[in-house]
Amino acid sequence: MEIRIAGTTRESVVDGPGLRFVIFAQGCRHHCKDCHNPDTWDPLGGVPVNVEDLLEQVRKEKLIKGVTFSGGEPFLQARPLAWLGGQIKALGLDIITYTGYTWEKLQVLLPEDQGIKELLLVSDYVVDGPFIKEERDFELPFRGSRNQRIIDVKNSLSQCKVIEAGFS
Ligand code: SF4
Repeated sequence: MEIRIAGTTRESVVDGPGLRFVIFAQGCRHHCKDCHNPDTWDPLGGVPVNVEDLLEQVRKEKLIKGVTFSGGEPFLQARPLAWLGGQIKALGLDIITYTGYTWEKLQVLLPEDQGIKELLLVSDYVVDGPFIKEERDFELPFRGSRNQRIIDVKNSLSQCKVIEAGFS
């Protein structure tokens, strides 16, 4: 199974708590003003990679706490990322997924896209919403603008409302 990625970072401390392996998914339709990664917008850009090869790369990183799916827009390639996320969680690592969709928009898309549901279910946390320059705040941990939330997926799904993570 292949996905298109813009790249990876083996050791990041800015894409979620702890040391993290980051996979930057290729392709994004949100086109946020002042996006830091416009090279990731073209869904045909980046490079194709086998998700099993990505899993092997993650396996080699013995010090990481988890893996972050960033972008681009990970939910455009939700099914293969959900499969990869499931394998990564089986290694005892956590998953954070960034998305330009709001949590509320994802709930609307959920019934018509099984992949979105699968990717949500393997994500411990989702950082939601587009980057909005007017709401930029350099003090925020792990996100760029104040509209973005770090959402506890399990609790939010079980309580049918947004529950933000304690470390946010
Ligand atoms: S969602 Fe992320 S990658 Fe996509 S345009 Fe917005 S900031 Fe850029």
